[in-house]
Amino acid sequence: MKNSKRGLRVLSIDLIDRHRNHNMEIEVPVVIVGAGPAGLATAACLNKLSISNVVIERDDCHASLWRKRAYDRLKLHLGKDFCNLPHMPFPPDYPTFVPRVEFLRYLDQYVNRFRISISYNRNVESAFLDDKNGKWTVRVKDTTSNDSDAVEVYVAQFLVVATGENSQGYVPPVKGLQTFQGQYMHCSTYLNGRDLYGKNVLVVGCGNSGMEIAYDLSNWGANTSIVIRGPVHYFTKEMVYIGMSLLRYLKIEKVDKLMMLMSNLKYGDMSNFGVVRPKDGPFIMKKKGGTTPTIDVGCIKKIKKGEVKVFPAISNINEGKIVEFVDGRNGEFDVIIFATGYTSTVLKWLKDYRGLFNENGMPKPNFPNHWKGEHGIYCAGFSRMGLDGISSDAKRIADDINMIVNARKLPGGEDNHACLKLLKS
Ligand SMILES: Cc1cc2nc3c(=O)[nH]c(=O)nc-3n(C[C@H](O)[C@H](O)[C@H](O)COP(=O)(O)OP(=O)(O)OC[C@H]3O[C@@H](n4cnc5c(N)ncnc54)[C@H](O)[C@@H]3O)c2cc1C
Repeated sequence: MKNSKRGLRVLSIDLIDRHRNHNMEIEVPVVIVGAGPAGLATAACLNKLSISNVVIERDDCHASLWRKRAYDRLKLHLGKDFCNLPHMPFPPDYPTFVPRVEFLRYLDQYVNRFRISISYNRNVESAFLDDKNGKWTVRVKDTTSNDSDAVEVYVAQFLVVATGENSQGYVPPVKGLQTFQGQYMHCSTYLNGRDLYGKNVLVVGCGNSGMEIAYDLSNWGANTSIVIRGPVHYFTKEMVYIGMSLLRYLKIEKVDKLMMLMSNLKYGDMSNFGVVRPKDGPFIMKKKGGTTPTIDVGCIKKIKKGEVKVFPAISNINEGKIVEFVDGRNGEFDVIIFATGYTSTVLKWLKDYRGLFNENGMPKPNFPNHWKGEHGIYCAGFSRMGLDGISSDAKRIADDINMIVNARKLPGGEDNHACLKLLKS
């Protein structure tokens, strides 16, 4: 265990490594599953409070979504003021909309600065509450080992689920997709359109990823089409930035009116092109159902110019590469990219989830009470509010654990904070 004069006390991975021996139990106060922004933010907040913890990550790096599963041209969609992780604002010389690589640099610095202990290449296979001791037993598989019995067991009083709302790409059932003779993929595997010049590509979905990927593909010379199956709000990044800033001072209805006015002035009525705005305002919609307005990086202009074609929902896929749409039109496509969202994978490994998670692996309690369950379980990064939500989850979780730990401070309470016990070998 390292113990700095500034009060940062972290559980050293070296210590775990030294004792790492498969089929051994390691006791640690807090286990955090997932080293994305949410897991990192929670670990940093705990470290600031000198509460030892270990972050367990299935991949060989932290922030794997941003490193491996995000397209090259991605920038943070929201201004940097809304994307800071706790205790470390973005550097002043960073641009307002931080590019993917700069964000990774920021996260790497974050890990170093808060001396976050991450155990990489460790897939959490199961976690359950042990009735006998009231602690969480977390079974972890070393993904680099060929030994199927190579399992480590962590015993923790507190378990933080930080495996993300975007853990696995979701591809909806489409009639005929299995017999499609072209290539199809989820957008999490799309990096750029270098190999797609001159190909007929259909992007399904008009959220941030769908619209931006369609724009990117068109720039790479693909004959691009996009499926927009329902009403959608679209704004520039700057408009959303203004709107989010105004929400601090004005009522949501007023901000929504202003947003719609700005969008109308900039883009006009796009219904002739198959792009229709919803009746409700963007922030009200977000508040009601979690639908995020789309940030336009240039796709709308391409739609107006006919460089990106719009289709309604797919009805089925027919004969090789023919895709049929609900309005009776059809088209031949070489590639289909599904930008149709993600699912949580919590239920694959969390056995005692019912208190906190529903059948979709999302929190049962509504925002703002979504982050805490009973018996020491928490979730960070499931508020559907991006990095801002992650930041607030992390602070709340660390403060709550700190309060519990302090409330039951035992004589010689050091043990409460930072101990790694090898229970049995
Ligand atoms: C393309 C894209 C752009 C986005 N842009 C923005 C933006 O501009 N602003 C914003 O605020 N939000 C944005 N978001 C939303 C959100 O902020 C990010 O998805 C963010 O990465 C979520 O962080 P997280 O830590 O909750 O989840 P993730 O980043 O998904 O991290 C979860 C981690 O858990 C690990 N894991 C999963 N299962 C296991 C297991 N069983 N065992 C061990 N490890 C496991 C994963 O490997 C992963 O590293 C964006 C999302 C996407 C997909």
